[in-house]
Amino acid sequence: MTKKKSIAICGAGIAGVATAFYLLQQSGDVEVVLIDKNQPLGFTTSKSGENFRDYWPQPIMQRFVGRSIDLMQALRKTHGVTSFEMVFSGYNFISHHKGAPIFGSTDESSSNDNMKVTTDPMTLKKQYPYLDGSIKKVVTIKKAGRLDVHALGSLLLRESKQKGMRFQQGEILAIKQSASGFEIMLDSGNVLKADQVVLAAGPFLNHLADMVGLHFPIINTLQHKFIIPDPKEIIPTDMPFTIYGDAQALDWSAEEAKFFKSEKKYHWLLQRFPAGLHIKPDSGGIKLGWAIQNGDEIPVWETTKLDFFPQVVLKGASKFIPALREYEEHMPSPLIAYSGYYTRTKENLPLIGPTEKQDVFVVGALAGYGTMAGCAAGELCAGHILGQGKLPEYAAYLAPERYTDPEMMKLIESTLGDGQL
Ligand SMILES: Cc1cc2nc3c(=O)[nH]c(=O)nc-3n(C[C@H](O)[C@H](O)[C@H](O)COP(=O)(O)OP(=O)(O)OC[C@H]3O[C@@H](n4cnc5c(N)ncnc54)[C@H](O)[C@@H]3O)c2cc1C
Repeated sequence: MTKKKSIAICGAGIAGVATAFYLLQQSGDVEVVLIDKNQPLGFTTSKSGENFRDYWPQPIMQRFVGRSIDLMQALRKTHGVTSFEMVFSGYNFISHHKGAPIFGSTDESSSNDNMKVTTDPMTLKKQYPYLDGSIKKVVTIKKAGRLDVHALGSLLLRESKQKGMRFQQGEILAIKQSASGFEIMLDSGNVLKADQVVLAAGPFLNHLADMVGLHFPIINTLQHKFIIPDPKEIIPTDMPFTIYGDAQALDWSAEEAKFFKSEKKYHWLLQRFPAGLHIKPDSGGIKLGWAIQNGDEIPVWETTKLDFFPQVVLKGASKFIPALREYEEHMPSPLIAYSGYYTRTKENLPLIGPTEKQDVFVVGALAGYGTMAGCAAGELCAGHILGQGKLPEYAAYLAPERYTDPEMMKLIESTLGDGQL
């Protein structure tokens, strides 16, 4: 009998878990061990806003995430709709400007199969009474909504364990390569052996990559979200995930502005903030987020809160949902704040596939879309590792090897906007 190939997946976020699942679904000839410092799905994946959409300005992303949505729907068909929640509640991009493009793209001036564009003032007023009366455009993405990523990941884990996957808890301290394969040293003193290694460490991707002599062109940016109760029932419980498509400077009082100007640490509050503030009904309250940070940070396991973030977001949100002004002045409690890293490449495409090192694969840099793209990322990484069958046409654009192909990079970088929220 031939020995099964052993594969160690380093990191059990949604990317690692989905890779394990699709490896074992596609082959009976592999032994998979999934390693994580903590319980699976507990780091970035647990911070996800759990939204999904098939609309992206980059056609590659559209096809990649579209495939992931199809895979999730197929899983619900096989395992039942109660296996994990996936609700097609839609996305609404809104703007105070009729002609403003969403995501820097220009193709949403009229409705099509994927989206509905509403600009008629009477219809806007009737359908969206909670929006500011001077909102001029709502672009509804139809194949979009929310999903339960913990339940999805738990399903993938359960199924993988049934097919023999082993989970090993422990922090990876070193990965050594020799002629006979890899040795993975854990903080417990345990050493795991494997023929192939998958780097799926989320924000710590380069920390692990460094252990095998690799480095990826990624940055980590800390993003924050919070949930507050909605005692005045301002946000309808069936409101789609609503995103403000306009950049804005915040409407501080003259006194506040003067104070922020006088203290260097508050200068950021006076900047022009980007488009993309988002809000949705959640857990009986409302969840708000705004990717206002764009710097590169060294990731840490315990992240810190950003002072004034809830006030900033509520002020920004009251620009398009004016009733929220009330919460800006009297913030409902309890406020649940949390944060996690967007680990991303400059062009905001993920890194999935073989690396320069023989038998080392990567699945990561899933930025703010890893929940919705997790299944397609796992399927693709498994396809690369097994080397059976034809890979999807988007595979080459997502593989790290793209950086060695100037033509491909030119094509990728020619897309307007990266679709990040
Ligand atoms: C605030 C926020 C909101 C988001 N909202 C959405 C959304 O609405 N929709 C969406 O699709 N996506 C969203 N995302 C993005 C999504 O959550 C991520 O892209 C996805 O979770 C990344 O998964 P991952 O498996 O790559 O990383 P992770 O979930 O971070 O998994 C990596 C794992 O590696 C482990 N690890 C790292 N180093 C080591 C080591 N040395 N030893 C052992 N284990 C190690 C970690 O413990 C971790 O469990 C959001 C992200 C954030 C931060």
